[in-house]
Amino acid sequence: MIKVARSPKPAILERNKQPWTDALLRASTVAGKRKVEGKYKHPSIKDVLVAMFHGKCAYCESKISHIAYGHIEHFKPKSTFPELTFEWTNLLLSCPICNGPECKGDCFPVVSEGGPLINPCDDTPAEHFEFVFDTAAKLASVIGKTIRGQTTEKILGLNRVDLREYRSKVVMTLYALSVYAATDPAAQALLEEACRDDGEYAAFIRSFPR
Ligand SMILES: [Zn+2]
Repeated sequence: MIKVARSPKPAILERNKQPWTDALLRASTVAGKRKVEGKYKHPSIKDVLVAMFHGKCAYCESKISHIAYGHIEHFKPKSTFPELTFEWTNLLLSCPICNGPECKGDCFPVVSEGGPLINPCDDTPAEHFEFVFDTAAKLASVIGKTIRGQTTEKILGLNRVDLREYRSKVVMTLYALSVYAATDPAAQALLEEACRDDGEYAAFIRSFPR
């Protein structure tokens, strides 16, 4: 997870947040509620989120835009906080697994439960996580440095088996490249590119010793 600067609010939310929220809170049937609720999925909202997160999951930093369009994730779940369904500062881009029922789903732990979760737009992830590549085990793991970091790692499954296996391969390749970076400008350039905000698992590449 890396810090992400939030883009300006899409015009469609500027215009419609209040009427949509009012209609949602007023809806008396499940069907009526669903009809209004789905408006947050408007392409012009999603486009801004995809650009803002460089097509990566806000939580696990996996590049999702080349295989899927990603989910619009409500940081504070819309099931518990319906009044925040169209609140721009509550929207993130997430992969279907981090956002799914086996990971974050509708979870939103309070302070007494080790929360709140780390928000890449509002918090500084580097203060809450260590991104460790174990060169002997060849494993790239996210370690929580704070209670909130530990809770976030656990709930989001940031070390889940498939994710860590794929991430470790990407990180290992770049780690091997980093050995040559001091003497090879081409290797150095590739490494710098991987550290950019749009680089997959950039938090790990930035943590390499220099
Ligand atoms: Zn994810």
